[in-house]
Amino acid sequence: MESVEQPMIAEFPESLQNREMIVKVSHVTRIYELGASRVTALRDISLEIPKGVLVALKGRSGSGKTTLLNMIGGLDTPTQGEVELFGIRLSQLDDEAKTELRRQRLGFVFQSFAILPVFSAIENVELMLRIANIQTDRRKLAMRALEIVGLGSWAHHRPWELSGGQQQRVAIARALATRPELIIADEPTGELDSTTGRQIMALFRFIAVKEGITVLMATHDPLIEEYAHMVVDLMDGQIRSIRFPNL
Ligand code: ADP
Ligand code: MG
Repeated sequence: MESVEQPMIAEFPESLQNREMIVKVSHVTRIYELGASRVTALRDISLEIPKGVLVALKGRSGSGKTTLLNMIGGLDTPTQGEVELFGIRLSQLDDEAKTELRRQRLGFVFQSFAILPVFSAIENVELMLRIANIQTDRRKLAMRALEIVGLGSWAHHRPWELSGGQQQRVAIARALATRPELIIADEPTGELDSTTGRQIMALFRFIAVKEGITVLMATHDPLIEEYAHMVVDLMDGQIRSIRFPNL
């Protein structure tokens, strides 16, 4: 494959120029080796993400979205290049330190919700606080997170009593409750109808603006153009463009 010229670090609009950059990806390449074959999932990606915005990572299936999210979340390691989170080079951390960084400063949301059916909404959120080793006020913190996502009155319901959109809100509350600096969401609207998907995108935008939490979400849903502050278009493992549609 020919290497196309990639845009350099985006020319940020004025409103973002003095923001702290909480993610810095520098010349990241990820090659998967499968027996004799090699798949270049990411090719020389460089990207900076400012605090408190909703960022969409767009691109068709196979363009490298999940691979890039895994690099930024410290779940996988670049073949070449470096990822910095909050000014920390991930290559300097061992696995244990990366796990701790994830628990304390990141939140994750997946397409499949991944909430536990035996627990109520609030218990699902409290469990994450326990995993993050938060010792006090777990119930209060969990309730506040459920209120942010609009589920205050559903706290004691079990997942099967909730709609798909509500279940995804529980998953978002769980990611929010630890007060992370960055939420990473991989196709969080992939299993939702378009109206519910819109509500989730609007919620992520609200969380970014009102809570100051940066949200990085992968999606191929064109509706994201109406909600994201920053849109990064991936194609064949490269950044094709970086745009700022709603600033
Ligand atoms: P997206 O999330 O945009 O659909 P992915 O990051 O999952 O894209 O995949 C990018 C490319 O890397 C694809 O060609 C995919 O087949 C390949 N790929 C992803 N994960 C692996 C893996 N674990 N082993 C080998 N190839 C992989
Ligand atoms: Mg994916």
